[in-house]
Formats: sequence, C-alpha cells, structure tokens
Amino acid sequence: MEKSNGQRVILFPLPLQGCINPMLQLATILHSKGFSITVIHTSFNAPKPSNHPLFTFLQIPDGLSDAETRTHDVTLLLTRLNRSCVSPFRECLTKLYQSAKEEKERISCLIHDAQWIFTQPLTQSLDLQRLVLSTYNVSFFHGHFVLPQLRRERLLLLQEQDDLVQEFPPLRKKDLSQILEEETELLDSYSDKILETTKTSSGVIFVSSCEELDQDSLTLARQDFKVPIYAIGPSHINFPAMSSSLFTPDDTCIPWLDKQEDKSVIYVSFGSLANMSVSELIEIAWGLSNSNQPFLLVVRVGSVKDAEWIETIPEEVMERVKAKGKIVKWAPQQEVLKHRAVGGFLTHNGWNSTVESVCEGVPMICLPFVWDQLLNARFVSDVWRVGIHLEGRIERNVIERVVRRLLLEREGEVVRERMKLLMEKVRRSVKQNGSAYRSLEHLVDRISSF
Ligand code: UDP
Repeated sequence: MEKSNGQRVILFPLPLQGCINPMLQLATILHSKGFSITVIHTSFNAPKPSNHPLFTFLQIPDGLSDAETRTHDVTLLLTRLNRSCVSPFRECLTKLYQSAKEEKERISCLIHDAQWIFTQPLTQSLDLQRLVLSTYNVSFFHGHFVLPQLRRERLLLLQEQDDLVQEFPPLRKKDLSQILEEETELLDSYSDKILETTKTSSGVIFVSSCEELDQDSLTLARQDFKVPIYAIGPSHINFPAMSSSLFTPDDTCIPWLDKQEDKSVIYVSFGSLANMSVSELIEIAWGLSNSNQPFLLVVRVGSVKDAEWIETIPEEVMERVKAKGKIVKWAPQQEVLKHRAVGGFLTHNGWNSTVESVCEGVPMICLPFVWDQLLNARFVSDVWRVGIHLEGRIERNVIERVVRRLLLEREGEVVRERMKLLMEKVRRSVKQNGSAYRSLEHLVDRISSF
C-alpha cells in the first residue's frame, strides 16, 4: 500500500450484493493508492466492518420494515430506499464534511451507485465533486435509458422475436419482451432520474468493464453522457479484496472440488437476487444428476419460492444428488471459478458472475432470469461466443443435454478455446499499459486533482 495522500473518498454503495462487492473492490484499489476511505451504508444489508479494518464505516437508518426489505421487486425496493435515505444521508454527509473541514482533512469526492438518485443537490450545496459507479456493463447502462421509449412502441416488437433490437443490441426482441413484461412504469421515471444523476456527475466508473469487453458502447456512452468515463476492468485480478459477502460462504466445497477431476465439474449459481419455483429447482436437480457429471449447486436460502431451502427435492433425486454433487447455501464463488476442477458455470449472468467467469476462463451455460442478465447472456452466447444459451422452460432433459454438450462434446471444446482467448485479452487489459490499467490511472489522477 502507498503512503496516505491526505485525501479521503466517501463511498455510498447500494445495499445489494452485486453492488457492495464492486464498491468495496473500488475502495480497496483507492486505499492502495493512498486515499482514506469512508463507506456510508444503510442498515439493510450492512457490510461487515470487521472484514475491512482499513476503512471507516458509517451506518444510516434506512427506515424500511423487515417486510419491505424482503420484497422480490428490486425496483420497488430501490425507489423506497431512495425516498427514505434522503434525510439520513444528508445529515451524515454534512456532519462528515464539517468535521473534515475542522480537522483540515480534504474530502476529494463522493462516489455512489448510479441508482442513488438524490445526491446531486446535496453535493452541489457542499461544493463536493461526485462520481457515479455503475455495476451494469456499459452496454446495458447506456442502452437501458431507451427502455421507456421502447415500452411505448411495444406493439411493434411482437413479430420476429429472434431479431436484434436495433436500438439496444445485442438484445433480441424476445429478451426485450421479457424485460418490458417485468418492469412497471415506476421504472421509467426512475431511469430518467438515473440519467440526470449521471449526466450531472463528474464522471462514471465501470468497475468490471473494459474496452476489450464493451468498446462500441464505451464510445457511445462518452458521446451521450458528455462526462469522463472510466472502465477500470475486472480489477479483482490485481487487487483481491477482503470478502464483502453478505452471506457466509460454505468453504467445504473447496475440499470437495479437490477430489474431482480437472474441468469435470459444472458449477451452478444464480447470484444473490434471482428466485426460482420449486418445480424449476427439481428440474435442475434432476437434469444435473442425469448428466452424470459432478456438480456444485448453490441454493440460496429464500431463493426457492414457497420453500425454506431444498426440502422439496424428492428423496429419489437427493439420493442421486448425493452420489454426484454437492449443494451449498452460498459458495466462495471466485475461489470456485479458479479451481482446476471446474469446467463450466451454469449462471444467471449477473454482470459480476459473468466477468468473474471470463477472468478464470470458465465457459458458461446462460440461464438469465431478468433485466441486465438477458443482455449479458447475449454477449456471452452471441457476441463473444463463450457459452451456450438456454432458451425456453427449465426442463431436466434440456439441462442434462446442455451440461454434456459443454463438458464432454466438441462444441464445448470450441467454446472453451474461445473463452481462453477472451480471458487472455481481458487479463491483459488490467496489466501495465492495458486499457483498463490506463483508465484506472486516469481515475486516480482525476480524484487526486479534486
Ligand atoms: N457470489 C458468491 N457466492 C455465491 C453466489 C454469488 O460469492 O454462491 C458472488 C459472486 O461472486 C458475485 C456476486 O455474488 O460477485 C453476485 O453478483 P452478480 O452481479 O453476478 O449477481 P446479482 O447477485 O447482482 O444478481
């Protein structure tokens, strides 16, 4: 770590696993460059300060009831948080700002998730620079502002479902129909606010994106947002962060993986938010056991609708699961993907999971559920061609077949070779003079200049 440069950066992540990880990753990087770090966070999904002894954590009340935090409607959750956090955040930041002034410490800037939409007037009144961080890939972040317009024109979309959406490639019309079906009009005014918050910021940081993954959209985003854009790449390669997991990872899967053959295991996880039905879980369990390949399946507590955990899987399937697989409640995912035994990743294609898989050269089976996952899956299967897309209903014979195609057949070998090339390209981007490396240098220079 470099010596302290006497500057402090304040971070304000959204309280979701896929947003906390990248923000604390950024905190680790900036701390290594000499910045002191303060993280302001909600009481809901609070990170564990003891995992990050070098940072200061300040908790603000978010005013949400337990029932409100348990909703499966993420847009509703985020709009509620954006209402209830305004005053506590203002109070916390103002106090922090004043005491820094008294102690003659320099607060360089606030970096917050792009989906916090109320910060602009406050930072303006404090004359504080503000950067936004996007945990989406660049294409989705830039493209999703067109969704309200596409919703209005949705009648035009009903035909030729396999065609690309011209305004939002590489999304196909059938993906768009799914996205628009799930999202309500509440989202339209929310995304207008996100756009305004972004355009009035001092810059946008994409933590896990780089030129190599998303060049065209980076060019468009620079033109349209008219603020500096920093695509600092999958920086966990160079700056392994302390765990910021909200769930406790079950480390017993590592010795289990040690016993498996090289590239024989299919790792299955759908991230921190996706939910499935009991019958979908049973079909997945059947399909994996029938594939006859070893598998590591993550079933998050609460992720199966109307069930506690895996008690609904019939005994006859569990017998087979025990013979060939392992089920855990949460896995140390980055470690799992690094393991020599893992040969494929059946994923929901959250952006973090997608990039983590690319960084370890693990080809994917794409089973996107909602929102940006549908676009990420198209990048994997149609643009980079490093995975196989599962379309249609979740059925045991489809799962069984796709696992075998990826792990045992020539098709899987070709996909794996392409993935190796992509991994090397992305890994080069965070090495000295790579595009993401240079972008990070520009970001650090910029924050130092505030
Ligand atoms: N993750 C993990 N263990 C698991 C499942 C997920 O550590 O069993 C981590 C994963 O490494 C990633 C994050 O949780 O960093 C999930 O983020 P992503 O963007 O993939 O999906 P989201 O949870 O936002 O849907």
